Amino acid sequence: MDTTSLTGKELAAAINADTKQRAAALAGTGAAPRLALVVANDDPASAWYVKSLNRAAERNGIACENIELGVDATAADIRAKLVELSADPSVDAIMLQTPLPKGVGLDDVSPAIIAAKDVDGVSPLSLGLLATGLPGFPPATSEAVVELAKHHGVALSGKHVAVVGRSNVVGKPLAQLLLAENATVTVCHSRTTDLPGVTSAADVVVAAVGRAGLIKAEHVREGAVVIDVGTNEGEDGSITGDVDAAAVTGKAAALSPVPGGVGPVTTALLMRHVVQAAENAR
Ligand code: NAP
Repeated sequence: MDTTSLTGKELAAAINADTKQRAAALAGTGAAPRLALVVANDDPASAWYVKSLNRAAERNGIACENIELGVDATAADIRAKLVELSADPSVDAIMLQTPLPKGVGLDDVSPAIIAAKDVDGVSPLSLGLLATGLPGFPPATSEAVVELAKHHGVALSGKHVAVVGRSNVVGKPLAQLLLAENATVTVCHSRTTDLPGVTSAADVVVAAVGRAGLIKAEHVREGAVVIDVGTNEGEDGSITGDVDAAAVTGKAAALSPVPGGVGPVTTALLMRHVVQAAENAR
């Protein structure tokens, strides 16, 4: 069987073209949309991601400010900054980078981000809005999976989707978004008994685990669609997914590449959320 590549670049470009126009319109009537990126780590992967967000913002006409709080920032320091930014009318959107300093959990600080500016949907309120179907920003990576599937004509309504991973950042919000698309969703995790048995019963398998090559041919039924959220850095600095692409190619009907699948759509959706937040605020 030929395995179609579910690339994200074309979709990301289309989203960015729309975002750029909307950002320019906002700039024309007042100020450009403004994103605050809060960083409290010295992690190289995070630094790389911040740079790529800075570049994406610049390309789209979004003003982006990096706020470095340092690795020694306490939960109280981070919360205070997030409260200040939440109240600042010149800031449209807030993103908090991970990892956070040792001993600080995302749940300790994310409630301080006001939902209207929580463009990556990390706060408990944003996640609750998503779970109840109320307006808010869903986590961009989870939304990217659904948007990528729709862009490539992958049917979700009535289909059985197995999501591997149950984090608050990807797996759980993705399950909510898939339910909203009328999929029948099974969420798998490290305690799932017989993972291959569960995932190979699904029409669509989404891998959001953080283990390179975990999903192999035995996890996928012939003709299923596989979407790979994983980004695992190899010793040589290369990025690979959670799916063993060589093993699954020829068995799956479609597979998203890593890099170049979910990743570019995630960044594009984040920028779209920033513009949406600014439009809502003005
Ligand atoms: P996470 O918080 O570490 O969660 C991983 C999940 O995988 C957990 O639910 C864990 O189960 C489950 N898991 C671990 N080992 C497993 C196994 N052997 N079998 C089945 N399930 C297993 O990771 P995350 O933040 O959700 O991220 C997941 C992946 O997505 C990572 O590779 C990350 O880099 C990537 N990611 C990509 C983007 C993007 O834009 N492309 C954005 C965010 C994240 P338990 O709950 O039982 O521990």
